Amino acid sequence: MIIFKTAEDISSFLLQRKKTGTHIGFVPTMGALHKGHIGLIIQAKKECPLVVSSIFINPTQFNDPKDFEKYPSTVEQDIAALESAGCDVLFLPSVHEIYPAGISRPVNYDLGFLDTVLEAKFRPGHFQGVCQVVERLFRIVNPDNAYFGQKDYQQCMVIKKLINLLQLDINMILCPTERETSGLAMSSRNMRLSEENKIRASEIYRTLLNISTEIKNGQTDLTVIKETAISSLTKKGFIPDYVDIADAATLEPLDIWDGKIKLVALVAAFLDGVRLIDNMVIS
Ligand code: AMP
Repeated sequence: MIIFKTAEDISSFLLQRKKTGTHIGFVPTMGALHKGHIGLIIQAKKECPLVVSSIFINPTQFNDPKDFEKYPSTVEQDIAALESAGCDVLFLPSVHEIYPAGISRPVNYDLGFLDTVLEAKFRPGHFQGVCQVVERLFRIVNPDNAYFGQKDYQQCMVIKKLINLLQLDINMILCPTERETSGLAMSSRNMRLSEENKIRASEIYRTLLNISTEIKNGQTDLTVIKETAISSLTKKGFIPDYVDIADAATLEPLDIWDGKIKLVALVAAFLDGVRLIDNMVIS
């Protein structure tokens, strides 16, 4: 695996490869890699002869400075994991390399409704920061395919919107959520949980399963389902930001289900000060 630290070096290397017709698959990450990230690399490797990953903890997408400070970093382990998964190129930039003009430059991506609900509501400015870094990375790497995890459902919709807004010629590939055997969605933030809390955290997955079962059993009043889920998580020691059920295609939160449209249930909740998110598509 070749490691690049500057935008100029990686861009010129990848441009040469593109000129010879090599398809480039790209997996952007913030590091502290786990099997969820590695799943994206493996899928990219199946579909593209040249796989590029990046590790960059993006300061502009953290609305909470403490969350940014506590974000785990395991670069040496990450390099070894990427290498054994068959990643060809790693981009490991500094903050200055990504933001030569500084991090406070204002950005305004027109994400519409997506920038008002769920994660956007509880993490103001988060998706603007995500778009800022993803646009910069896309322009540096210029990939054919970009791989993102369904674990961050709303983020995937935002990236699709970004690709459309910027009219980029990039296929966004959505990859399934990797889970622990307990059902807990793998996440870099899980590293901040004690072993006991990792077991407790799988309650989020069970909540999603319960929501799915209730809907499949014919409950169409989604408000009741959401309220039950919030109170059950709260009783089990979580501090939920939201439990919502939305149209899977638009993310519009719904109170009643017409029995036809595909739904997605989404949860964001704190456990022991660690913010966890997960979702489940219900069709
Ligand atoms: P992050 O490092 O958290 O920014 O995540 C980098 C990419 O990995 C994003 O596209 C995430 O959606 C994806 N990802 C994170 N966790 C998982 C998971 N458990 N399963 C699948 N993809 C994931």
